[in-house]
Amino acid sequence: MAAAGSSFSLRLFAVAAVAVLPLLPFVPDFWITLGGYIGLYSLVAIGLVLLTGVGGMTSFGQAAFVGFGAYATAALTTKFGFSPWATLPFALAATGLMALLIGLVTVKLSGHYLPLGTIAWGISFFYLFGNIEWLGRFDGISGLPPFSIGPISLIDARAVYYLIWLVVLVAVVLSENLLDSRVGRAMRALRGGSVAAEAFGVDTARAKLIVFVYAALLAGTSGWLYAHVQRAVSPSPFGLNAGIEYLLMAVLGGSGFVLGGVLGAAIVTVLKDQLQNILPKLIGADGNFETIVFGILMVAVLQLARQGLWPFLMRLLPPSPQKAVELSAEPLERRRLPERGMAVLEAEKARKQFGGLVAVNDVSFMVKGGEIVGLIGPNGAGKSTTFNLVTGVLPATSGEIRYMGRRIDALPARKIAELGIARTFQHVKLMPSMTLLENVAIGAHSRNRPGVISAMLRLDRLPEARLIAEAARQIERVGLTEHMHKPAGSLALGQQRIAEIARALCLDPALLLLDEPAAGLRFNEKQQLAELLSQLRADGMSVLLVEHDMDFVMKVTNHLVVLDFGTKIAEGTPAEISVNPVVLEAYLGGVE
Ligand code: ADP
Ligand code: MG
Repeated sequence: MAAAGSSFSLRLFAVAAVAVLPLLPFVPDFWITLGGYIGLYSLVAIGLVLLTGVGGMTSFGQAAFVGFGAYATAALTTKFGFSPWATLPFALAATGLMALLIGLVTVKLSGHYLPLGTIAWGISFFYLFGNIEWLGRFDGISGLPPFSIGPISLIDARAVYYLIWLVVLVAVVLSENLLDSRVGRAMRALRGGSVAAEAFGVDTARAKLIVFVYAALLAGTSGWLYAHVQRAVSPSPFGLNAGIEYLLMAVLGGSGFVLGGVLGAAIVTVLKDQLQNILPKLIGADGNFETIVFGILMVAVLQLARQGLWPFLMRLLPPSPQKAVELSAEPLERRRLPERGMAVLEAEKARKQFGGLVAVNDVSFMVKGGEIVGLIGPNGAGKSTTFNLVTGVLPATSGEIRYMGRRIDALPARKIAELGIARTFQHVKLMPSMTLLENVAIGAHSRNRPGVISAMLRLDRLPEARLIAEAARQIERVGLTEHMHKPAGSLALGQQRIAEIARALCLDPALLLLDEPAAGLRFNEKQQLAELLSQLRADGMSVLLVEHDMDFVMKVTNHLVVLDFGTKIAEGTPAEISVNPVVLEAYLGGVE
């Protein structure tokens, strides 16, 4: 999912190839017309790349949004005398509003329910528009005016071809800009589930809605163009079949790669045309046999090349140069850390039950400013669950959790993150296909907020540079600089744990929760980690540490809280705990 990783020279070549095509007199009209359609479909496929490939939301209903754009401009131009240009804002507003309403309902659906929901609206659009008298029922609306520039009418396929591909070019640039930004990283993190993203202040529901509406707007734009290229609209091109073809384009070309959408649109469009010629002759009967081939193709791609064909194409090209990180960018504002010794985190009779199982049993403890508290206990003692209560991943069954005197047990995870609590996960939650730098930058998501529009227009470069510089600094701090531009999934597991610490530090936390950070680290790495923790404490940060390596725990902590079967059985200094008979019996005795 290398957002902006496509090589510059390739793009230049593609643009030149597209631009020159209609100028060549020996290229027949037929291919120019087909080229125009490829452009129209590309717009929809690019939206689907973002929605499905990047955001992980499968939609079979995208053709309905094309229909909204097309019908909006058809009605306005034929019934109210608008010029085709003037209807674009209305077509986009209609599509966007519809997407917002549908999105508010369907985006929350999980698992297979979302694709099913998209099938439902894909079908209903077809019947809805096909039954409205005013919109011409299944015959649709004809006699739409063509686009025109002054006296020049873009009625000729060669002329309108340029308009279409200009819009595609704009869509590609806007989409790649968006992916390569703060909001884009949040969108790309959606695939990893909401827990990790929300833990760093990402509003995942909002991010999903943004992708959803953006994809619909691209589809609506395609419909707007399509209506005036075709000069007629009817429900059939906007039904479920079309929705499935659009999805195939996105999946085949490269779910996750903007230009993969264009590639997929080209392959499917040409293939469909050829198959429609050949298959009926081969089989000796009429019918849309290409649908069968497309079905097989979709399954084959999902089985054999999950990322689609784009990555194969990219492998043939030299890698694009690494973007330089401007370390000179103005540092992000820092949080004021609480005073040393003040109560930063207080759990009071915190309780969590899973059905009959009491995972955390009325546990009380405190973390003070500038202190490292260890939370220890055998497997299943309730340590990770306690982390989840503090960070808002799970609601407490009863009890109170206070942060700097303020109750946080009813707050959502991302609000708690914004207050200055950052964490790592026992089971690493990085986005494997995003670079280490991009993963770590998500940690700073809530520290400055350039938005969607500024990202698309590249007006976010100053705040973006500050975010990236902060991420690079934290990566350097944990000693992973040489891996900065590698996909996070390519790092060793121990390094991924350290990367999670860098991401947490990127939030500029006052309280840092580390869940088994030393697991899988080598001796040297553990020593470096211990040094880092001491340094953080010296800077005034508070740390709550879950760790099984007792030497490590004894060396770095000021205070220990011991859990067993969800219950606190002891607390005290490391020296006290190491000779506490109850602890030795319950825990250390068994472990050696
Ligand atoms: P630790 O981190 O100390 O090893 P956990 O907090 O992960 O322990 O788990 C404590 C207990 O709660 C275990 O018995 C575990 O099986 C149970 N548990 C943890 N999460 C859930 C959950 N989401 N649903 C049901 N039981 C859970
Ligand atoms: Mg655990």
